[in-house]
Amino acid sequence: MSLSNEKLKDLLWLVGLTNENELNCEQCLALVAEFAECELAGKSISDGLKAVEQHLSVCSECREEYEALQRVLDGIEGDTSKK
Ligand SMILES: [Zn+2]
Repeated sequence: MSLSNEKLKDLLWLVGLTNENELNCEQCLALVAEFAECELAGKSISDGLKAVEQHLSVCSECREEYEALQRVLDGIEGDTSKK
């Protein structure tokens, strides 16, 4: 096996995301931009991002962050489509 400890940690983290384990706020905020972009683009979301969605449904702080981000992204989209 050539997996370094670091790689293994990454893997465990990703596996953790696909479980019902909840993300903490730090993990959620690290992925929330990606999640917002996927949502906006109508792309299907990965398991990792589903965990973000899950966290947003239970954490009002992160949801506020997400909603603020969504407004920014909406604004950008709106500008480019109008001009
Ligand atoms: Zn949170």
